[in-house]
Amino acid sequence: MHLKGTLYIISAPSGAGKTSLVRQLLSRDAQVRVSVSHTTRAMRPGEANGVDYNFVPLAEFNDMIDQGQFLEFAEVFDNKYGTSQTWVQQQLDQGIDVILEIDWQGAQQVRRLMPEAVSVFILPPSREALRQRLTGRGQDDASVIERRMADAVNEMSHYAEYDYLVINDVFEQALAELQAVLVARRLRQSAQQQRQQALITALLSA
Ligand code: 5GP
Repeated sequence: MHLKGTLYIISAPSGAGKTSLVRQLLSRDAQVRVSVSHTTRAMRPGEANGVDYNFVPLAEFNDMIDQGQFLEFAEVFDNKYGTSQTWVQQQLDQGIDVILEIDWQGAQQVRRLMPEAVSVFILPPSREALRQRLTGRGQDDASVIERRMADAVNEMSHYAEYDYLVINDVFEQALAELQAVLVARRLRQSAQQQRQQALITALLSA
């Protein structure tokens, strides 16, 4: 039987370092890919269409919803975000692991549809560290920062819905922990039994 890929959901409040962790993870692990979401939000400086997101107008996003093209979608901070159903399924069918960097609302939808998905929540090491990371270059006024803190606390309040919790204090350690989740998952007996069938048969033959 062909081994299917594993679907990973990774959520975090903004400021927890999720994107950097995932980027490093991808560069060290050829068996995993990240899903590029569709979004209606404006492109930020340094972002590229098709790389960070597929940036689409609201009308196009709504058409995609109507056509059932999303595995999940949600409104986050007044913009819409969604994950392409077809792309994710194609990867999994080829035995490639897929990471979804999505919020808690999307995570709930994916868990309902694919209970075998593995979910990881990334937390910052302290409230102060989070506030510092959300303060940016010091150009935002206090009310903007407070709003970001409130949004972060709201996202973090869903931590208990996830299978694994990683604290991003020392980056390299958090990365190693995230890698450990993927490695452990691949070593599950049921998966290894399929992957190592020839070896196991040879070892057990009389
Ligand atoms: P940002 O606009 O800062 O890149 O992302 C804002 C939030 O949207 C983050 O919490 C991120 O996890 C979430 N997000 C990004 N893509 C998706 C998606 O496809 N679906 C859902 N549900 N959330 C997403």
